[in-house]
Amino acid sequence: MRNVILEVMRDVMSNRNWIILALLAVTMTAVAQQPASAPQNPQPVAAAQPGQTAAQPSAAPSGQAQSDQSQSPQAPANLAPPTTMDQVVDRVIMREKELIKFLSPRTPIVETYLQNLTQDPQLGPIPQDDHYFLGRMDLSDSIDRSDYLQEKVKGEGEGMEKRLLGGITKRFKFQYQPLGFSWMIFADRNEFDRQHYNFHYARREFLGDVRCLVFDLTPKKDAGRGRFLGRIWIEDQDFNIVRLNGTYARPSRNNYYYHMDSWRLNLIPGYWVPAYIYSEEGDFTAGAKNKIAFKAQTRMWGYNLKTGTANDELTQIRVDSVKDETPSAQDASPLAAEREWQQQAEDNVLERLERAGLLAPAGDVDKILQTVVNNIEITNNIELPRAVRTRVLTTSPLETFSVGNTIVVSRGLIDVLPDEGSLAMVLSHELAHIVLGHNLGSQYAFNDRMLFSDDATYQNLGFKHIPEEEAAADKKAVEMLKASPYAQKLDSAGLFIKALQKRAPQLGALLQAHLGNNITDNGTVTRMAQLANSAPALDWNKLDQIAALPLGGRVKLNPWDDRVEIVKAQPVAITSARDKMPFEVTPFFPRLARYSAVSTAAATTADASPTPTN
Ligand SMILES: [Zn+2]
Repeated sequence: MRNVILEVMRDVMSNRNWIILALLAVTMTAVAQQPASAPQNPQPVAAAQPGQTAAQPSAAPSGQAQSDQSQSPQAPANLAPPTTMDQVVDRVIMREKELIKFLSPRTPIVETYLQNLTQDPQLGPIPQDDHYFLGRMDLSDSIDRSDYLQEKVKGEGEGMEKRLLGGITKRFKFQYQPLGFSWMIFADRNEFDRQHYNFHYARREFLGDVRCLVFDLTPKKDAGRGRFLGRIWIEDQDFNIVRLNGTYARPSRNNYYYHMDSWRLNLIPGYWVPAYIYSEEGDFTAGAKNKIAFKAQTRMWGYNLKTGTANDELTQIRVDSVKDETPSAQDASPLAAEREWQQQAEDNVLERLERAGLLAPAGDVDKILQTVVNNIEITNNIELPRAVRTRVLTTSPLETFSVGNTIVVSRGLIDVLPDEGSLAMVLSHELAHIVLGHNLGSQYAFNDRMLFSDDATYQNLGFKHIPEEEAAADKKAVEMLKASPYAQKLDSAGLFIKALQKRAPQLGALLQAHLGNNITDNGTVTRMAQLANSAPALDWNKLDQIAALPLGGRVKLNPWDDRVEIVKAQPVAITSARDKMPFEVTPFFPRLARYSAVSTAAATTADASPTPTN
């Protein structure tokens, strides 16, 4: 355990002093973590629903859909390897149809974050404004997308135009259709075959560890509108598509198709599931004339989440959740009862968020956050009746909140933080809420308050504080930071605030918190703003001054089981101010690997905790 944390810490935060502090604190962490009863296995061991088995023909034998293993189908075996390119194409078409069938009962979460760009003479294209879409995809008979957030414009773009992959409709103004961004999870959902496409073999190429055959696809002359036009990469073992890159042919007059780069990951045996799609339009070279310029990241996850039917919801009231586990034979004292009650509320909320795919299962990233929290607690002599826990929200918008004694930080926020000093700043604010007793609301201890559909999560849960509590938490947080090992590292935290302030007016969607308090108010940073006063001047041209990172560089989310891990990428030298890209969207370039390699890596991390130290 000690080794694991230090290993990860070394990768993430290469700061010598910090590691020594972590070493001192780790023993405490381990002790503190033991009694914390994280909600294990949030999925109910439900009796087989008649509708459920029917809805998942290929996925699982009825009644035992619990573990990944039992649910993961095996690759079709005993097929002779194709010997001609024609046979390869046949196999590709067959595998794509099997993937479409395999995914059809699933409703993964789909998130699109888009930045419209404007040209800055010094920094190149920078964000001008942004949009955020979050929803569930229904892959059952077409590709459909229902959104969690209320940014729907009825009428325009619905119906036929939407079916025709309307990325953008422009009858009155440019209107982004979230569906358009997720369209390229398949090349062609309904008619991926030789009647509609020409396949031209281009070459062999490695993507990461995976050897691929590369084909160019063009629609046949009379194949109709909205056909895929571009390139596909096929892994050369089972002939699954692992990457698609291109656009759709012949848009209608009021529609516009994006260019997309779509990646799949081999997270279960035999199948490569769609994980990331990068879209980009616009050209800022001299003389180019653009109506739109943007870049957008679309991520899919939660493939293994239960589909939340009404029946499913009711099975969530589990008999075993009210089992009394207290060792004492006596009734709880009033204060103990109150704490027990709060613990129940906290666990209910975490379990519900995890079931909706919005909270990653407890894991290694939590341990890093927890170590930082522990460092602040220990140096401030903070002793709480219940241990503070940390969890990762799976979404991109920059937000934090705390539920009882659990601090939740979004994936996007962890991504953009430059170092441990700024991470400590983020965590200290929530720790302050806990220390000051701001989180005593326990209305969620009642299970009926958890009975809502996944897409109503944001309407039913919220952890916002009143402005007075926000101000008090900031004050307490600064006080704690100054007494902590991070006292000397607050310059970077202050620089982060300054960089955020610089970009905040353009990043309204990224800064819109959905469950907690906003970090900004009307384009002005309010959270921990005091730290900016003592920080050095922000200077984009100073190449060694990294105030904030691009999105997506730090935390990797597993689309199949929602686990998060820290990316171990080699740092790339920054050679100009344009390389910094604070808070920006960049293309995806995952290192592809086959399932066994991926699962071995996952097993190593999972097994790491019981390993003896040294
Ligand atoms: Zn707060």
